[in-house]
Amino acid sequence: MQEFDYICIGGGSGGIASANRAASHGAKVALIEANKIGGTCVNVGCVPKKAMWFGAQVAEAIKLYAPDYGFDLTLNEFNWKTLVDSREAYIERIHGSYDRVLGNNGITRIEGFGRFVDANTVEVNGEHYRGKHILIATGGRPSWPDVPGAEYGIDSDGFFALRQQPKRALVVGAGYIAVELAGVLHGLGTQTHLAVRKEKPLRGFDPMLSDTLVELMAEHGPTLHTHSEIQRVDKRGDGALDVTFKNGQSLQVDCLIWAIGREPATDKLNLDKAGVEVNQQGYIQVDKFQNTSAEGIYAVGDNTGRIELTPVAVKAGRLLSERLFNGQAQAHMDYDLVPTVVFSHPTIGTIGLTESEAEAQFGRDNIKVYNSGFGAMYTAVTRHRQITRMKLICAGPDEKVVGLHGIGLGMDEILQGFAVAIKMGATKADFDACVAIHPTSAEEFVTMR
Ligand code: FAD
Ligand code: NDP
Repeated sequence: MQEFDYICIGGGSGGIASANRAASHGAKVALIEANKIGGTCVNVGCVPKKAMWFGAQVAEAIKLYAPDYGFDLTLNEFNWKTLVDSREAYIERIHGSYDRVLGNNGITRIEGFGRFVDANTVEVNGEHYRGKHILIATGGRPSWPDVPGAEYGIDSDGFFALRQQPKRALVVGAGYIAVELAGVLHGLGTQTHLAVRKEKPLRGFDPMLSDTLVELMAEHGPTLHTHSEIQRVDKRGDGALDVTFKNGQSLQVDCLIWAIGREPATDKLNLDKAGVEVNQQGYIQVDKFQNTSAEGIYAVGDNTGRIELTPVAVKAGRLLSERLFNGQAQAHMDYDLVPTVVFSHPTIGTIGLTESEAEAQFGRDNIKVYNSGFGAMYTAVTRHRQITRMKLICAGPDEKVVGLHGIGLGMDEILQGFAVAIKMGATKADFDACVAIHPTSAEEFVTMR
């Protein structure tokens, strides 16, 4: 039986980051991956999504903005397959770069599905591997609803497998994935519907963000259907799908995408044999050091039920390896003030508390809220003006910035720098003390009154 200092089950964002960091400190490491290296983010998540989002941005620039900038363009056709081929070639290059780094770090790659035999042993394809420390970084998978005909739909993995552009699509769900995929499809020219079961998408975000998104969808699309739960899906002889909603409405589309959340990939790992406890939804229970209930076994990333973002899995994985293999006994992930972006059209960037969360935490009298709204300059010189809205939420007598939210062009790139300031404890006075960069959208955050 081969023995390792560290076995990582799952070669996605968290597993790769942790394995590489452990190996860089001299640990003998094995990485077990059942599918393609890179996990969700690289193969069916952030990377292909952003490539498609860029595609939609190009389409928007050509169709909406180019004419008023003086370009007389004739768009002959958009070839979905070309975009997908370019995207997949890029992903292949990422695979190559991961392979090289893992190889250079002397990490043993094991291809196949890992399962626990006991608390120190993992089995893959009948072979047993022993680890002094074992990381579970198996991520998650899309959830599916229990409605008749659900199988005629696809999930986000299926979206990235599409080699032809659907003419008419319905995206069901109200979170990041639903909003992003509906925006991409609409931007690329698919007649797109987004169905949410409640009053709007992104309900957990500050209402300024979700309400502005709804306002923009009403102006530009995709078509939003609120209070619309699916009752059944039927497939017609010509392949089209008849979707019936519980509210009596119906819709015919060529493609239905379920984007109603994700669940942890922990059910087939034989966790009971290792003494690793999960909660009712199957998420692995970890303490602040990513320790599970079994000694020597850790978990990071989407299977822990914390914030499901690639940089979170990466950071948690790296810090764990610093603790286990580099003597940093207190190293652990700080899950507070994590910045995040929804790649909608335009993008949403947010960090910290929503207004109602700040009110609940500090009391209405102890918070001050600053708002700003303006037409993004890039669009303001054209006929297709697009609103940008920003909000700062400050608390206490020194007006510490406890929440920053924005929706508008460039918000995805604007957020990171402000997140550094907020993580450092910046106050409104610190923001004001910084000279604006003009003309930008970002300058609004340092000139709000
Ligand atoms: P994963 O990256 O999912 O990796 C887990 C790996 O473990 C997989 O490769 C899987 O094959 C493997 N595995 C599972 N079980 C076993 C087993 N028993 N044996 C061997 N291998 C196994 N996050 C962002 O920050 N920004 C974004 O823009 C963004 N966009 C997204 C878009 C979509 C459509 C989706 C679905 C997700 C997106 N995310 C985004 C979330 C991000 O992808 C995840 O948070 C991140 O990938 C989690 O990393 P992980 O290491 O926990 O799991
Ligand atoms: P989310 O948890 O973000 O959203 C799913 C939403 O779908 C729920 O909040 C719920 O909203 C709605 N929903 C749940 N069940 C049903 C149902 N049966 N029918 C209709 N709607 C339903 O999940 P996602 O899958 O969108 O994304 C998973 C995670 O991946 C995200 O939370 C995020 O952490 C990460 N991610 C990050 C991205 C980024 O960084 N840009 C992009 C994509 C994913 P409601 O209650 O309002 O109906």
